[in-house]
Amino acid sequence: MEKAKIAVIGSSSMDLVVTSAKRPGAGETVLGASFDTVPGGKGANQAVAAARLGADVYMIGCVGDDPYGQEILDNFKSNGVHTEYVEPVTGQKSGTAHIILAEGDNSIVVVKGANDLVTPEYVEKTADFLKTCDLIMIQQEIPEETVEYVADLCNKIEVPLLLNPAPARKISEKVIVGASYLTPNEHEADVLFNGMKPSEALKQYPDKVIITEGAAGVRYHDGTKEIMVPSFKVEVVDTTGAGDTFNAAFGTAVAEGQSMEESLRFANRAASLSVTGFGAQGGMPTRDEVERKLA
Ligand code: ADP
Repeated sequence: MEKAKIAVIGSSSMDLVVTSAKRPGAGETVLGASFDTVPGGKGANQAVAAARLGADVYMIGCVGDDPYGQEILDNFKSNGVHTEYVEPVTGQKSGTAHIILAEGDNSIVVVKGANDLVTPEYVEKTADFLKTCDLIMIQQEIPEETVEYVADLCNKIEVPLLLNPAPARKISEKVIVGASYLTPNEHEADVLFNGMKPSEALKQYPDKVIITEGAAGVRYHDGTKEIMVPSFKVEVVDTTGAGDTFNAAFGTAVAEGQSMEESLRFANRAASLSVTGFGAQGGMPTRDEVERKLA
C-alpha cells in the first residue's frame, strides 16, 4: 500500500522536566530530584506519532537557532519526519515547556518562542507543496490567524484538514465549517460549542466532529445516529500524549482511505497503547505494534 502523505502544521518544543518532592512556593528554593529534556509540542508529537504509524510526514513549523532547535530537528529525523519545512529562525529561542512534577501533580510554564512565527505568511510559502498532500493536520499551539488561514487554504486546494482544537479556545464558524474533521476532548468540546450538549454538537456536524472521552473511547454522528467507538482496556502508565497519538492515527488511517469507523478503531488502538508507556512520545507505538497487540 502507498503511504499516506501528511503535512503537520504546528508547534514543536523542548520539555524541561524537573521532579521534586516539594513544590517551591513564591520566593522559595528547593532541591529537586531529577532533570530531563524531552521533545514535545502538539504538532511535533502528532508528526512523530504519524510517522511511526506508517505515514509519510512533513512537519511545517519553526524552531530557534539554539541547541534545543537542533535537538528538535534531530528527533524529527530519527523518527523519519521530513524537516525541509522546519525553519531554524536566527536570534529566536525554540518553544519550551517548563514542567515541575511535585507532590503528585504538575505545574507547567509554556514559552511559545519560535512557534509564534508559524504565521499565515510562513505557511503560504509552502502552499504549492501542501496541494500535493492527502491530509493536513493542525492544532492550536500556533497563532489563531494561521489556523483560520489554513482552514481557508485547504478548501481552496481541496485537501482535507484535521483540526485538533487543543489547547481549548473558541473558534469561528468559518473554521468549523472549513475543517473536514474536528477532534476535541470533552473539555475542548465544551469551550468550542459554548456549553452545547455533546450529542447536539455531534448531530450538528455529522462525520466531522469526533469527541474523545479518555478511557471510554470516542463518539461521532454518522448523519443518522450517534456512534460510540469504545477504547481498549490497558494498564495505564502515563496518559500524556494520548490525544496526540489518537489524532495521528486517525489522520493516517483516513488519509489511507479507511472509513470513519475503521479509522477511529485504529486510532483508539494506537492511543490506548500510547498510555502504557511513559512520556508523550515515549509511549507512541509503531504500526507493527498496533497491528500485533490488541488485534
Ligand atoms: P486528551 O489526551 O486530548 O485529553 P483523551 O483523554 O480523550 O484526550 O484521550 C484520547 C484518546 O486516547 C481516547 O479517545 C482513547 O482512545 C485513548 N485513551 C486515553 N486514556 C485512555 C485510557 N485510560 N485507556 C485507554 N485508552 C485511553
